[in-house]
Amino acid sequence: MNLTLFGPPGSGKGTQAGFLVRHFGIPQVSTGDLFRSEIEAGTPLGEQVRTYLDNGDLVPDDTTLEVVGRRLAEPDTAGGVLFDGFPRTVAQATELDRMLARMGRRMDHVIFVQVPTEMLVSRMAGRLTCPRCGRTYHPELAPPRRANRCDVDGTGLVMREDDRPETARRRIGVYLEQTLPVLAHYRQQHVVSDVDGTGPIEDVRSRILRAIDRRRNGRDGSRRPDGVAEGGS
Ligand code: AMP
Repeated sequence: MNLTLFGPPGSGKGTQAGFLVRHFGIPQVSTGDLFRSEIEAGTPLGEQVRTYLDNGDLVPDDTTLEVVGRRLAEPDTAGGVLFDGFPRTVAQATELDRMLARMGRRMDHVIFVQVPTEMLVSRMAGRLTCPRCGRTYHPELAPPRRANRCDVDGTGLVMREDDRPETARRRIGVYLEQTLPVLAHYRQQHVVSDVDGTGPIEDVRSRILRAIDRRRNGRDGSRRPDGVAEGGS
């Protein structure tokens, strides 16, 4: 099963992705996390991508695809992966289709986590991140059990530079302009489920699980497991 959690920055994709990988036992491929660990490790690739992340711009497609290609070559991804924050351009989606096809795989399901644009900046602006494991929190929407400490590993939480309001607004602009068209790419393949991303985290989680369940059982009117589009049932 290869799935993508698709949605604007601040839609809660990362939080839901963390839950889904534990639930389904498949690895998460988050390009944002991959880039941040390269930056932290001080690698040449990290140096190359740092400015893009700091400014809230997209890393060029060839660099992004190289990082994903390397990750997909690792054996733990053979049984499927959950993409988070990737693909973010139509060119990335097209190349990912080719990469998966070469491995005899395909994108099975794209879950579009919908959150109204006006809610995104406030969600991102309050966000706190664990610098060790990448898990995110929010003082009101998703507070950690102990103030400013990660529930998983106890590390002190920080605010990501690119979650500051000005950069957050820029990232939303980039999303609307460059990333939203990716959805049309996957709608043509009949693999998209639209999920309401507002309300409590647990509710969003249940909606996502229901969408996955419907999709796996072919009850969502989208492409059947044999790849044939069922049309408007
Ligand atoms: P994220 O953690 O997914 O919000 O990503 C943080 C930043 O990493 C983005 O603002 C981009 O600068 C960069 N990034 C992450 N994923 C991609 C991608 N698929 N394509 C280009 N840039 C990306």
